[in-house]
Amino acid sequence: MSAVNRGFALTWLGHHTFKLVTRGARTVLMDPWVESNPACPKELKSFDKIDVITISHGHNDHLGDAVMLAKKFKPVLVCNLEISLFLDRKGVANTLSMNKGGTAEVAGLRFTMVHAVHSSGIEDGGQVFYGGEAAGFVITLEDGTRIYHAGDTAVHSDMALIGELYPPDIALLPIGDHYTMSPREAAVAARMLKPRWIVPAHYGTSPVFTGTPEMLREELKKLNVTSEVVALRPGETLS
Ligand SMILES: [Zn+2]
Repeated sequence: MSAVNRGFALTWLGHHTFKLVTRGARTVLMDPWVESNPACPKELKSFDKIDVITISHGHNDHLGDAVMLAKKFKPVLVCNLEISLFLDRKGVANTLSMNKGGTAEVAGLRFTMVHAVHSSGIEDGGQVFYGGEAAGFVITLEDGTRIYHAGDTAVHSDMALIGELYPPDIALLPIGDHYTMSPREAAVAARMLKPRWIVPAHYGTSPVFTGTPEMLREELKKLNVTSEVVALRPGETLS
């Protein structure tokens, strides 16, 4: 695809973690599960800089290393109010809390928080804290390209609204099953979202994740959805 021509680089760090470097040289880390992410290649666990971190929900495999990375790189952390309050208590500065339906501009990029169907409790020190509601993000780049990071979610009919209001060029969709959509639901999601490209995520990191990109291609074919599946390997960049 023409990501390089469009002037950005999107790298899958495994699971639901993505690193985006934009045309304007902004680095965005989505769901920063890096250190203990079994799929993340070692050489990608260090960063030159991080301008923005987005957090879709409070689970450990998504909130991940937000506290450590925030203290090291001083990014803006875009998340819901409850997660921002949790991060404040951990001594993290520069949280930007928002809620679904809203758009915030950070570092010249636009972040729209959208609905997801999932839970969001934050486990810390053997206790579970309320983490607000799980969400997804539509990130609008400097040139208008839109990337939808669905976070963990079931398929839901509001995806039709996401497709109408913020038609994504690229959708980063979970396909693993068990905790999220499987390829069958992801294909229905794609029918509503109509992205040009789908990058499958949230699979391959646990035996309970049975979904594969090949299964997604088959399900899309059954529904006559023409979105192209770009199956990255962990560490691979869309190019
Ligand atoms: Zn989750």
